[in-house]
Amino acid sequence: MGYVKGLKCKECKREFPKEPIHVCEYCFGPLEVDYDYEKISKQISRETILSGPPSMWRYKELMPLDEENKVGDHVGFTPLVRAKNLGKALGLNNLYLKNDSVNHPTFSFKDRVVAVAISKAMEFGFDTISCASTGNLANSVAAHSAEAGLKSFIFIPDGLESGKILGTMVYGAQLVAVNGSYDDVNRLCSEIAAHHKWAFVNINIRPYYGDGSKSYGYEIAEQLGWKTPDNVIVPVAGSSLITKIWKAFHEFEMLGLLEGKVNSKIFAAQATGCSPVTTAIKNGTDVITPVKPNTIAKSIAIGNPADGYYGVKTTIDSGGHGEDVNDEEIVLAMRLLAETEGIFTETAGGVTVGVTKKLVQQGRIKPDETTVICITGNGLKTVEALSGQFTDPIIIEPKLNSFEEIYSNRVSTA
Ligand SMILES: *Cc1c(COP(=O)(O)O)cnc(C)c1O
Ligand SMILES: [Zn+2]
Repeated sequence: MGYVKGLKCKECKREFPKEPIHVCEYCFGPLEVDYDYEKISKQISRETILSGPPSMWRYKELMPLDEENKVGDHVGFTPLVRAKNLGKALGLNNLYLKNDSVNHPTFSFKDRVVAVAISKAMEFGFDTISCASTGNLANSVAAHSAEAGLKSFIFIPDGLESGKILGTMVYGAQLVAVNGSYDDVNRLCSEIAAHHKWAFVNINIRPYYGDGSKSYGYEIAEQLGWKTPDNVIVPVAGSSLITKIWKAFHEFEMLGLLEGKVNSKIFAAQATGCSPVTTAIKNGTDVITPVKPNTIAKSIAIGNPADGYYGVKTTIDSGGHGEDVNDEEIVLAMRLLAETEGIFTETAGGVTVGVTKKLVQQGRIKPDETTVICITGNGLKTVEALSGQFTDPIIIEPKLNSFEEIYSNRVSTA
């Protein structure tokens, strides 16, 4: 283990030691993990990956840890589902779903970033883990802190879905709901971080945290037979995942692990009620105008995205685009995915499926291209989004004639 040279400013390229820091003190640019790719290229090959565990740790050389991971042994290596039925509905002949709604242990892609962040926090010797979260991060930080035997303080905006709240408390975490938006919560956490020596997974541990997302990109490429797809539709909140998928594809290319070259368009997907990144892309600017979120897609409702500029840049550099869907379209897309593929995703998955539909209609995605839709969270956590969508089930007596009565009614009205 140990392929990390240090941290490096994404803007001015100044180098920093491996510490729990995230901002360049010279230009305020974000810090990134700086890997020794020459050393990695001597260690990693398709064979070493294939003989690795069925988890994100099959790519451990490309993860920012100096020691073996301390939590999250079973995170990642989720299914890449060939989606023929949904493809037919959308007019796509080569459609896949990268399904992190079944990620272990908390059913979202956040388990990838948290497994790395908490392992790194333990290397640094922290005893308390914290985060500002839109919900899924809270669940995952709480679960992995429990696994690690560490204390956790978790901050969320008031008004999150009950599944996300219960799915944090159950692990014994200290959960604090803040009267405000995620952006208010994040600002508060930066102030708290100055007073308490805690590991904030998406603040002072952010450079390491973000690289957990790369595993999602590696898996897409490996599972497509060491190829990258023509199109990837990515849900965007803070813009970490979208930039890391792009980075992952290019690292695989650089290390000679791919058939051919990266030729993927990356599409950003947001909810209309919180679309600072896709709005900037549509307006042809890389300047993000912060917004006040108002959407059922709470897990991706970040009005002032930390890496928004890089999210825009990724889509532009790749030749992709940005698009958004409103709450009604999100619900319809969640139902379409469930009815065609038997996959129940949360609102963020409704966003990527709905946006894909729009991109096909706009001719930006062609029928025979290979397209991957990112499904990043589980529908059982956001059941509120579907309230009023279905009537209650019919109640009958435990008698055959009681059933036959409603059955014949159904058949005659069908
Ligand atoms: C956090 C999250 C995302 C996107 O997060 P980024 O901050 O852009 O990396 C996407 N989908 C779900 C379900 C999430 O919880
Ligand atoms: Zn700098």
